[in-house]
Formats: sequence, structure tokens, C-alpha cells
Amino acid sequence: MVRLRARLARSQSTLGRGLLELLSRDRLDDDVWDEIEDTLITSDVGVGPTRAMVDELRTKVKVLGSRTPEEVRGLLREQLLTLVGTDLDRTLRVRSHGERPAVVLVVGVNGTGKTTTTGKLARSLVGDGKKVLLGAADTFRAAAADQLHTWGERVGAEVVRKDEGADPASVAFDAVAKGMDDKVDVVIVDTAGRLHTKTGLMDELGKVKRVIEKRATVDEVLLVLDATTGQNGLRQAQVFAEVVDVTGIALTKLDGTAKGGIVVSVQRELGVPVKLVGLGEGPDDLAPFDAEVFVDAILG
Ligand code: GDP
Repeated sequence: MVRLRARLARSQSTLGRGLLELLSRDRLDDDVWDEIEDTLITSDVGVGPTRAMVDELRTKVKVLGSRTPEEVRGLLREQLLTLVGTDLDRTLRVRSHGERPAVVLVVGVNGTGKTTTTGKLARSLVGDGKKVLLGAADTFRAAAADQLHTWGERVGAEVVRKDEGADPASVAFDAVAKGMDDKVDVVIVDTAGRLHTKTGLMDELGKVKRVIEKRATVDEVLLVLDATTGQNGLRQAQVFAEVVDVTGIALTKLDGTAKGGIVVSVQRELGVPVKLVGLGEGPDDLAPFDAEVFVDAILG
């Protein structure tokens, strides 16, 4: 996996520069605080959390009396860390259960990066010495299975697929059954992200999950969210979280945006920790999320 620090520092530097410049002003007057607030809201931290954080920061600065930019930066760092959360369990549940492989279900709206994330995750697990099998349960587009197949070849993971239009649940079932026969460590099932109707989605994902659970357990339901889609993407992600028990979030395309504050919004809104971040299109462009590294990248 790619080094989070270096990559994030590049994409989040606009935000960091803005904040540092503001903190270095001679006087922290109302205008400056408003600008700090705007900067954080622009980065998708969310209006509510930003206001609460800036208010607390202002109070602390007032109580402290004299302050240097470094002191204020330190306080802001603390606040951001609290918001992002340092004590959330961000461990991916990919440990196999003796004879049974761990099963990861990848869900989310089409185009967010599900297949790419599935491929990158497989790559990372294979790199850790695990045997990985991929299930192409997005049967609505033949291209999706082809894309996953290409990833499988690239990263050294076999792919179970069926013809276009096949029942996604039957692909998931076959993938898990084969995973057990072949004694693989992890089965990752890539699903379709059609947001047709909420009940349609619920039926589809519910069935995929139920069918898998005839043979194994679904250990991780990874919801993929595109960081560049902001609050709109968040609303769509919420629909998925309502129909399936999401256990972790993979936030993709953080390399293409300074809106890293979405980490805070998504965790608050969905009540699920961000576990992985996507930082590019290549096989190694995936990193485990680390709150401290992330906040330091934001602050430059
Ligand atoms: P899916 O429809 O959800 O399976 O989405 P795909 O995996 O096909 O990804 C959609 C597009 O986003 C592709 O062009 C990917 O290469 C690109 N993509 C996925 N993840 C990332 C990422 O972390 N960074 C960047 N820059 N592009 C990404």
C-alpha cells in the first residue's frame, strides 16, 4: 500500500496552506475565525462540526490569552483529531475462520471506485501472503466483470464470474463455495451499485448477504464513497447504510480533492469508521486510514 503521508500531504496541501496562513495572522479577529470556519466547511468537514469546533477553539484561545500560531495549530490539531476519532476500530475484518474464508462485501454507488478498491485490496492482501478470491457479483454490466477479471490477473487472485444478467447472489454463493473448496483466506465480493429503488437495492444486497451466510459469515461490509462527490455522495451512501449493515468505509479519490474533511462528515452521518482511503488508480494506491497522519496532512 502506498504511503499515506506523502500522498495526502499533496492533495490536502491547499487546505493546510489556507489554515496555516490564517493562523499566522497578527490578530485572530472575527473575520479570521470566519475564514477558518469557511475553509473547513469548504473541505467538507460539515457545517455543524465545524462551528462547534471553531467555537471551542476560540474559547480555548481566549482562555489561554497570548498565543502563537504554533499554539493555535496545536489546539486545532487536537480538535481535528477528536473529530476524526483516534479510538475507532479501523481494523479490516479479513482474518479467516479456520476452514472458512473471511468474506468482504464491497458496496456503493457505481463509479465510486468499488471494483478498483476490490482490486487494490486484493493486491494488498495477496502481498500479505493471503490467498484471495474475487466474486464479480455486478452482473448488470459485462464490463464490470471484465474489469474485475483484469484486476484479478494483475494482482494474482482468481475471479468467479457468470454471464451478464445472472443472479448476483448466485455469483456470491459460488465465490464463497469455491473459496471454501480452494481454502482461500479471503473472498471479496464486488456488487452492483445501481441506486434504482431503495427496496430494489435492499432486496438485492439482502439476498447476496443471506446467500453468503448459508456457507460463511460476511465479516466486513465495505461501503465505497467517492470523496469528490461531497455531500451528495454522502446522501447516496446513506441509502446503502440503511439497507445493509456497513462495517467500514473506503473513501476513494482523495488524491483528486482537498475536501478531505468529508472523513469527518461520513463517519458522523453513517456512524461507521473510515478504514481505507483510495489515493489513485494504481494497484498500490490504497492505504489504511490513520487519523494522526490524516490530520497532520491537513495541517501541512
Ligand atoms: P465502480 O463502478 O464503483 O466499480 O467504480 P470503478 O472501480 O470502475 O472506478 C471508477 C473510476 O474511478 C475508474 O476510472 C477508477 O480508475 C477511478 N478510481 C477509483 N478509485 C480511485 C482513486 O482512489 N483515485 C483516483 N484518482 N481514481 C480512482
